[in-house]
Amino acid sequence: MNQPICRISGQPLTKVLDFGQQPLGNGFLPPEHFISEYFYPMEMGFSEKSMMLQLIEQPAPEKMFHEHYAFYSSTSRFMERHFGEFSHQVMQSKYLAKADPFVVELGCNDGIMLKHFAQASIRHLGIEPSRNVAEVANVNGVRTLSEFFNENVAEQIVREEGQADAFLAANVMCHIPDIQGVVKGIRTLLKPTGVVMFEDPYLGDVIEKTSYDQIYDAHIFIFSLHSVRSIFNIHGLELIDALPQKTHGGSMRYVIAKKGCRNISNRVGRLIKKEIKLKLNKISSCLTFKKNCEISKKNFRAKIFNLKKKGKTICGYAASAKSTTALNYCKIDSKYIDYIVDSTKEKINKFSPGTHIPIVDVNHFRKNYTDIAILCSWNHRKEIQKKEQNFSLKGGRWISHVK
Ligand code: SAH
Repeated sequence: MNQPICRISGQPLTKVLDFGQQPLGNGFLPPEHFISEYFYPMEMGFSEKSMMLQLIEQPAPEKMFHEHYAFYSSTSRFMERHFGEFSHQVMQSKYLAKADPFVVELGCNDGIMLKHFAQASIRHLGIEPSRNVAEVANVNGVRTLSEFFNENVAEQIVREEGQADAFLAANVMCHIPDIQGVVKGIRTLLKPTGVVMFEDPYLGDVIEKTSYDQIYDAHIFIFSLHSVRSIFNIHGLELIDALPQKTHGGSMRYVIAKKGCRNISNRVGRLIKKEIKLKLNKISSCLTFKKNCEISKKNFRAKIFNLKKKGKTICGYAASAKSTTALNYCKIDSKYIDYIVDSTKEKINKFSPGTHIPIVDVNHFRKNYTDIAILCSWNHRKEIQKKEQNFSLKGGRWISHVK
């Protein structure tokens, strides 16, 4: 079906990866919508100039972020803990002014991080276009503006509330096609001494683990220190620190300030050297990644077909956007998988995007264990396996497409 598609602006790209036609990562749907389901070509290119690996085209953002957005950040206890720690690190840092500091968060979702600032009575503002999750944040006492962030929104915030000491973002900078516009907006919004701290899945981990499922409609950019430094430099901002994170199967927290305003940590130089050694600044690493994706697909398909041949029943655990990429790329559908378990009400009783596997409540799983469960959110492996100990005790086996 013909739907709006948005070509990502920026540097010329060399196409390196092709994951075929993909549906929306979070496009869980009822059967009556199967016929009109939206697909787009999920291809990635590498920019030699900005050293960025990115989608070539993506569906229009309004198709993905709206009042029925299916991802609530606070469903993960692990992420709850992570954002509790992140916010306290910001509060205890040297970056916040002593008098009346102001913290802005991009893509605050249900307020998982900003609620800690709200509880500490620190002036804050969340910017969150998906109205359903923004409403939860507001109900939780997190002041949230339901808008797509851009330069105009930044100017409006400065007019109404002044400049910010800290601009935070997690798993959202990589979502926004007009990255240059966002960076310009951040420059406007930041105090001269202000800092940006944002986290996103890290190219080094994606390539090392062949976790191609980090790529989906919303995840346009897979950042590295090289690409982040290059984009922010254009607008007078510089990378002053970078801290590897365990979240989302391997992320990086980037700390950025206006040029010359803050000292640059030695960690930046060390991590840049490591990236050069791994050739993360070159197209060759992406071409190796491409080969590894193809091998991973072949192996995963063979594993599933074998299990099926042996008469095993299989389910998926956690209907994540990651699983949409993996299942569609590997062409594993309802012929192989009986159901996918999830706890989000927006997904239950619907079907998985593209592969049309029923999504069921976790209680269904607990009453109808399959022989095998695919860890669709392999990055939450520990949390899930602990919660579902009984499955293993009853002889169930976990498998996953990423180690
Ligand atoms: N920070 C949360 C949520 C990540 S999901 C976490 O790490 O768990 C990405 C969020 O960014 C979604 O809630 C989405 O609605 C929001 N988002 C997408 N585009 C945005 C934009 N242009 N400006 C602000 N938020 C945006």
